[in-house]
Amino acid sequence: MAEKKGEDLMEKIVSLCKRRGFVFPSSEIYGGFAAVYDYGNYGAELSKNIKNEWWKAMVQLREDIVGLDSSIVMSPRIWEASGHVAGFSDPLAECKNCHARLRVDHLLEDAGVFADEKMTEEEINQLFNANLDKIKCPSCGKHDFTDAHKFNLLVKCNLGNFASDWGKDPVYLRGETCQGIYVNYKNVLNSARVKVPFGIAQIGKAFRNEITARQFIFRTREFEQMEMQYFVSPDREMEEYEKLRQARWDYYLALGLKPENLKWHQHENLVFYAKQAYDIEYNFPFGFKELEGIHARGDYDLTQHAKFSGKKLDYTDPETGETYVPHIIEASVGVGRTMLAVLTDAYTEEAVEDETRVVLKFPPRLAPIKAAIFPLLKNKPELVQKARGIYDELKQKYMVEFDDSGNIGKRYRRQDEIGTPYCVTVDFETLEDGAVTVRDRDTMVQQRIKIEELGAFLDEKLK
Ligand code: ATP
Repeated sequence: MAEKKGEDLMEKIVSLCKRRGFVFPSSEIYGGFAAVYDYGNYGAELSKNIKNEWWKAMVQLREDIVGLDSSIVMSPRIWEASGHVAGFSDPLAECKNCHARLRVDHLLEDAGVFADEKMTEEEINQLFNANLDKIKCPSCGKHDFTDAHKFNLLVKCNLGNFASDWGKDPVYLRGETCQGIYVNYKNVLNSARVKVPFGIAQIGKAFRNEITARQFIFRTREFEQMEMQYFVSPDREMEEYEKLRQARWDYYLALGLKPENLKWHQHENLVFYAKQAYDIEYNFPFGFKELEGIHARGDYDLTQHAKFSGKKLDYTDPETGETYVPHIIEASVGVGRTMLAVLTDAYTEEAVEDETRVVLKFPPRLAPIKAAIFPLLKNKPELVQKARGIYDELKQKYMVEFDDSGNIGKRYRRQDEIGTPYCVTVDFETLEDGAVTVRDRDTMVQQRIKIEELGAFLDEKLK
């Protein structure tokens, strides 16, 4: 078994993702475009499966949560109300030697000094100067930096703005999806059959001018978020928060992530309005880092939007008649980050007969391809026809592949590398007994199954 940690593992995952069509660097033929990635055929499937699992847990199985798909570009006033225009920033310093732009809170953390992006410019510079001897530029190894200054992460654009100097009065690509939820809270309340406590869930793109966006799809400048905002009465905020924390932990276990790769991290430095903040961290190849944030945000969001919009955003309880501004608890996670966690959990190397077998042991529900159908030999029309028939039947329900190229061993290895849980081979015996060989990805055990029972077999295994 390969040592499942460190740069080596990261390189192997990045290389497999490119080779097998999970993740491509953006704009590669033009020399690339930093911190943005494209998903290839299997990556698109994996990301869709992750989003489906999240939507099922958040919306389909919950009577108290409804979905939303709000726009990416919204009134710039929203980002003033939320505090993003004034304060959505990270501390940036430049290496005077190689001009790399660096996030100072991360440099300090890597040197073992507690810091976070919420500190003021003065606080972070004091820490930075006091610890300079411990900090090296990750690009060139030198110790010579500019002072840190706060760099705003909002991405500006000119949609609907025809002024030549639009940069003075920009609109923004959303920095997080939840603002679209807050500003639609009254619409949802008035149109859906919900009453407090209830939640609104949304999956969508978000954009941030991240200063250092290395670490592959962990931190990118364009990414997809899955966010659920839950509206509660003030007195039930912490009780509902604890329920949400438990639900999100259980979700990751049910998704199939190994419990030893998950842990809680409680924020030490809360923003002034927050009641509580925990992250679920995952053990990525570069160590435990935030996968999902679960926060109790008080009434800050709706109060701010009420103030800036001049619209009342309070709620009157139909039973008690009590009126209040709902408090909000949220669970927020990136699709790309979940994908990297799932890939890290799944990546396995095994020694099989003097060879190394690389397998992505995805939970079957997340696997991009559920089964691959092979005729034993490509040049035997009766085998090909039978295998095509099975493929045509199964593809009505599942993402399956037909493959008749190369020997069976090679076809198995290819499917192992993309994490296909089952390979189905049609051989000469099939023509006699109407059964196929089904090979299990993880155990490599093969069993004979009647063709007419294949559908039920997959239904059972993929539940
Ligand atoms: P970090 O501290 O890693 O920058 P954050 O605390 O700024 O993250 P939030 O604003 O709370 O993140 O966003 C919620 C979730 O969205 C994160 O837990 C993460 O899964 C995802 N996310 C945030 N920024 C990015 C990014 N640049 N690329 C990919 N996913 C991201």
